[in-house]
Amino acid sequence: MFQLVWIETPTNPVLKVIDIEGCAAMVHKHEIILVVDNTFMSAYFQRPLDLGADICMYSATKYMNGHSDVVMGLVSMNSENLYKRLSFLQNSLGAVPSPFDCYLCLRGLKTLHLRMERHYENGMVVARFLEDNPLVEKVLYPGLPSHPQYELIQRQCTGCPGMISFYIKGELGHAEAFLKNLKVFTLAESLGGYESLAELP
Ligand SMILES: *Cc1c(COP(=O)(O)O)cnc(C)c1O
Repeated sequence: MFQLVWIETPTNPVLKVIDIEGCAAMVHKHEIILVVDNTFMSAYFQRPLDLGADICMYSATKYMNGHSDVVMGLVSMNSENLYKRLSFLQNSLGAVPSPFDCYLCLRGLKTLHLRMERHYENGMVVARFLEDNPLVEKVLYPGLPSHPQYELIQRQCTGCPGMISFYIKGELGHAEAFLKNLKVFTLAESLGGYESLAELP
């Protein structure tokens, strides 16, 4: 048996950033392993294993596949011991994806670098647009210098994905009206695909 600490960075939905290196150093003192959910950043912008994490986990459903046509997850690790234990469990429990889903996901992965660069570029434009809008109270985007952990983000990641959170001035009704009146964005809860989505968590 082993104990683990599981973190997600940036967090959903308020995009708080956790110092992976600091977290790994802290938990390793107590012989606890660190698992990082790297779904939001993808393997292209953030490399948790290089920062000291023991296991890196993804919902491949999101950026890694990128085309909203697969539901899949994956874990990666450097430790042979952990790998053996997890692949034994995977094999004996039978939780394996279908060949067709693997084909789709592999095909999606081939354009990960291009898609992530474009998500970053578009994310910056939308975040800046919102930040300049007088009806917006606050924008949370790790790529904006106004993000409270901007310095950590610069150190830990090489770019930012397409997820933006923001607060609209006023009350709940204003946020609901905003969502109802969107023309390009669809009201749905997912991320990492080719569609532009919005939701009110
Ligand atoms: C969507 C999501 C998951 C769950 O993934 P599924 O592929 O939908 O099961 C886990 N972690 C994060 C950060 C996610 O965004």
